[in-house]
Amino acid sequence: MLGLMQDRPLTLTHVFHRAEQYFGHKTIVTASTTDETSTTIAEWAVRVRRLATVLDTLGISADGRVGTFCWNTARHLELYLAAPCTGRVLHTLNIRLFPEQLVYIANHAEDEVVFVDRSLLPLFWPLVDQLQSVRHVVVIDDGADAEVPSDPRVHDYEELLAAATPFEGAFPVLDENTAAAMCYTSGTTGNPKGVVYSHRSAVLHSLVALTTDAMNLSERDVVLPIVPMFHANAWGLPYGCLLAGSSMVMPGPNMTPQAIVSLLERHKVTVTGGVPTIWMGVLPLLPEHDLSSLKTILCGGSAVPRALSEAYREAIGVPMLQAWGMTETSPIATVSSPRSHHADWTEDQRADFRARQGVPAPLVDVRLVDPETGEPQPWDDRATGEVQAAGPWIAREYYRGEGGGAQFTEDGWLRTGDVATGDRYGSLRLVDRTKDLIKSGGEWIGSVELENEIMAHPKVAEAAVIAIPHEKWVERPLACVVVKEGETLTAEEIIEFLTPRVAKWWLPDAVEFIDEVPKTSVGKFSKKTLREKFAGQRG
Ligand code: ADP
Repeated sequence: MLGLMQDRPLTLTHVFHRAEQYFGHKTIVTASTTDETSTTIAEWAVRVRRLATVLDTLGISADGRVGTFCWNTARHLELYLAAPCTGRVLHTLNIRLFPEQLVYIANHAEDEVVFVDRSLLPLFWPLVDQLQSVRHVVVIDDGADAEVPSDPRVHDYEELLAAATPFEGAFPVLDENTAAAMCYTSGTTGNPKGVVYSHRSAVLHSLVALTTDAMNLSERDVVLPIVPMFHANAWGLPYGCLLAGSSMVMPGPNMTPQAIVSLLERHKVTVTGGVPTIWMGVLPLLPEHDLSSLKTILCGGSAVPRALSEAYREAIGVPMLQAWGMTETSPIATVSSPRSHHADWTEDQRADFRARQGVPAPLVDVRLVDPETGEPQPWDDRATGEVQAAGPWIAREYYRGEGGGAQFTEDGWLRTGDVATGDRYGSLRLVDRTKDLIKSGGEWIGSVELENEIMAHPKVAEAAVIAIPHEKWVERPLACVVVKEGETLTAEEIIEFLTPRVAKWWLPDAVEFIDEVPKTSVGKFSKKTLREKFAGQRG
């Protein structure tokens, strides 16, 4: 017997129409390097409608890829809706990638048009002749003085919008499985791989962002997405905010700690999200600012150091809310929101819990599997296994099946490449990525776990642990440590600090002091670079 409910497709057109109709009075503020502009959702929606017809006028194919090379701004959000609501596919290009990778990605996705913030033209324009499918480059003038090339492919965003008639009425009903957006993994190994989100996956992911144990977004929130809109759709915040009706504050190009803290304070932001590096930068500024409006600091993308989260709790009463995921998981897969059984826990125990990656979001299935034998592991918080995920917003394959077959199991689960333990309440604790694990004498050492212990030292700013070859043990840990400004520290002091905290055979064989941990294009520790740097070291 079939259920008798309406079979309405889950599409972003609903998200747009809902925001336009009910939240027209809400605002989106965008900061630039010099000033700030504010628009209402009603004004923004008219611009989305104009942009929809601009895409037609430019002759973009019915499912053409619409590239963006932009900061977090209200105008980028116009593209976020206009492309998918007209059946096109939004393709956010990561402005921090190497030129060869950008060229590869834009050609692989077959972008027909790229919308570029004027301040980013100097990065983008030198590549344009290598982009085989790009017929139009639309420059969004963000007040920067970068020269705009005089070339028949180049258009001005505001001129196109001004000349366009707004699309009228409801956007056409689309199949919910149609592609809405795509994003390439940052390619820490091999070529970047294309992840293609559908309308259905984007809507379901946004809906979960509104749940209390995930991001808890509501109409009453003022949200500042610091995580870039070119990185896994800014963790789903833009679509989530539109669905909820939250006000938004977009940071634009100025990502200095001073600019961020000032936006948080002046706009009484309630929810924000960014990678740990951002929050490390903002931390010293906290005492000079009133951030009493803030209730959620979403943090993820790499392990959130316990000490960082605690520093925020002590300074402003709000610890980090850790989430774990990846481009392939849209990205929210787990969130470390507090549990009822913590009621009689000490603050210390809660801090330990917050340093974990969290509990799978509704509709996300997670299993832990021995990477060598394929055996499922128990959720006893001791056995470790590769995290495999399945769910309606988890990728099932890469765009054009590219190089990623190995990342999906025969029964259709995503192999995340992360290694974790899980407790009986479903809370994951990541110990490593499969390729970063250190195998010493046949036993695994979790580099992420060891890093967290080192970063708990009050004089340590950052630490990354990599494997170095060892004659007897095969691999041993090497700790690369960045000391906080104005402090001094020796290798012996670090080993002494670690001794009561980790098993003896986990203690690093060597400690190297470095000025900065090299980062990838999305701000994560680049262990590849460190491995190259210390290639000659032996344990
Ligand atoms: P890439 O895989 O190219 O680095 P992603 O941004 O998709 O790009 O990164 C996903 C990876 O980031 C995860 O597989 C995981 O290793 C790491 N990660 C994300 N969130 C966390 C977290 N909260 N704690 C630890 N690692 C995390």
